Amino acid sequence: MTDIYEKLLSKAKEISKNAYCPYSNFPVGACVLYESGNEYLGCNVENASYGLSICAERNAMSSAISAGEKTKIKAIAIYSPKQKMCLPCGACRQWLCEFAVDENIQIILEGKDEKISILKLKDIFPYGFKFDE
Ligand SMILES: [Zn+2]
Repeated sequence: MTDIYEKLLSKAKEISKNAYCPYSNFPVGACVLYESGNEYLGCNVENASYGLSICAERNAMSSAISAGEKTKIKAIAIYSPKQKMCLPCGACRQWLCEFAVDENIQIILEGKDEKISILKLKDIFPYGFKFDE
């Protein structure tokens, strides 16, 4: 694994400590790397009205847009200390499809067993929805 992926995972781990998850007790952290070289972080934020909760991955992508990021995503690291491999949910996969350079971007995962997995977006989300260009 390259140093850059280790760096992204380490940032995802760190930000997972900020998660607001009193209902699930399932903290998640995400670090998204853009073509510009910029990185954005997100943790999950829950709500007493469960459906209003937002995932770490979408939080990180929202931070990028809010900061004015104009390039596309090259890779994302996702970490949770509560699961072996914390795959992004369906909503986050569609968000990744929206902002990714292409379907070959790397999804870097680490969980409680400290085993690192690297997948491609196309492996976990083929045929994502996009408007014709
Ligand atoms: Zn999600």
